[in-house]
Amino acid sequence: MDDSSLLSEFTLFLKEKKQEGIKVIAYLAHDNIPEELIDAAGFFPLRLIFGGNDELMDASHDFLPPSTCAFAQSCIGLFSVKPNDYKFLEMVDYIIVSNHCVSDICVSEIISKYFNIPRLNFYVSYTINENSLKYFKLELQDFRNQLEVIIDRKISDDDIHNSILKFNNFKKKLLEINELEMLGSEKLKLIHKSMLFGPDFLHDLENLIQKFKHTPQSVSNTSKDVFLTGCSIFINDNFIDLIEEGGGNIVFFDTWIGNHYYSQIIESNLIDIETDPLDVLVLKFKNNIYGDHSVPNFLEQKVSFIQKYSENYTKNKGRKLGVINHIIKFCDHISLMSSFLKDTLQEKGIQVLNLERDYSRANRGQLSTRIEAYLEMMK
Ligand code: SF4
Repeated sequence: MDDSSLLSEFTLFLKEKKQEGIKVIAYLAHDNIPEELIDAAGFFPLRLIFGGNDELMDASHDFLPPSTCAFAQSCIGLFSVKPNDYKFLEMVDYIIVSNHCVSDICVSEIISKYFNIPRLNFYVSYTINENSLKYFKLELQDFRNQLEVIIDRKISDDDIHNSILKFNNFKKKLLEINELEMLGSEKLKLIHKSMLFGPDFLHDLENLIQKFKHTPQSVSNTSKDVFLTGCSIFINDNFIDLIEEGGGNIVFFDTWIGNHYYSQIIESNLIDIETDPLDVLVLKFKNNIYGDHSVPNFLEQKVSFIQKYSENYTKNKGRKLGVINHIIKFCDHISLMSSFLKDTLQEKGIQVLNLERDYSRANRGQLSTRIEAYLEMMK
C-alpha cells in the first residue's frame, strides 16, 4: 500500500493546525492515552501509526538494540531519518512517555531526549482493580496539570465533557466500518485516515460510509475471509497486500488501529454533565477488557471474543473465517500470548496462523508462501 498521498494531505492538514496556533502532542499507537484531555486543552493528538522499512529499522540501531520490536525501531527511525513523506514530524511539540510496554517507554524517552521534544508523562497500571482505577484517576489529574501548565490556564470540566462526547461520537461512526462490504485494504485506508485526522474527519467519514453502504464493493467470491488480530497494520505497510495477493480478504481488524480503538465507546447516558469527566475516562479504562496492556483475564476475553465473532460470522454469512495473528517481530505483548491464543482457538475448531515478521523487504517471499499455504488450507 502506497500511502504517500494520505501523508501529504495530512502534512497540509497539520500545517493548517499549526497556523491556527494549535500544538501537536504525539504518542505511540496503543490505547489508554486520554486523547480527550489533549483535545480539551486545545492540542492536536497525533497517534504514531506508521509502519517501517529496512532503512528506518537500521537508523534506530544507534539508539536501541535490533532485538527491540520492529515498530519501535521504525518510530525512532522516522524521527532520525525524517523521510520526505514524514516531514510533518518536525511539527511535533510534545511526546507522551507512557508504559504500554517496555519498548513504548524506551522509544518515547529516546525520541524526547535525542530529538529534543519535551515529554509529558502518563503511566497506566497493569491491572484493573479498585486501586488501579484510583491510580488511573491520579494519573489523569496529573496529566491535566501538565497540560494546564503549558497553556497557563485551567481546562474546564465542560471542555473535557465536550471532547469526550466528540471522540465518543467519532468512534460510534467508525464502528460502522466493521459492517461494510468491501475489500479489506480499502477498509484499512478508511481506518488509517480516520485515526490520523481524528474527529475532524467525521463529516467526510459519514459521507464515505453512506456511499459505501449504497454502493457496496464486490469482493471476489473465491477469496478467503480473514479476521486480523495481534499487532496493527500501520500506514505504509504492505502486509495487507501480501494477504490479498495470496487470496485472502481481511473482514475485521481486531487491533489497536481498528475495532479495539473504536469499540471503546461510553454509553451516552453515562456522559453526564454532573459527573466528574475524569471519572468517565476512568470508566473507559475499566471497560477496556480486551486491551493487551492490563491484566487479568485479557487472553481469555480475547479468545472468547474471537470465538463468538467467528461463530456468528459463519452462521450469518455461511462462510468460514480464518484468523491471522499478526506479530511484529520482538513485540513481547503479542508474541508471548501467541501459542496460547492459537492452541485454544484451534481446540475450538478455528484455524489460526501466527505470523511473526519485521519490516524488511527480504521477508516478503517467505511471508507470501506462509500466507498462501494457510489460505489454501482453509478450503
Ligand atoms: S512491543 Fe508490541 S506493543 Fe510494544 S511498541 Fe512494539 S508493537 Fe507496540
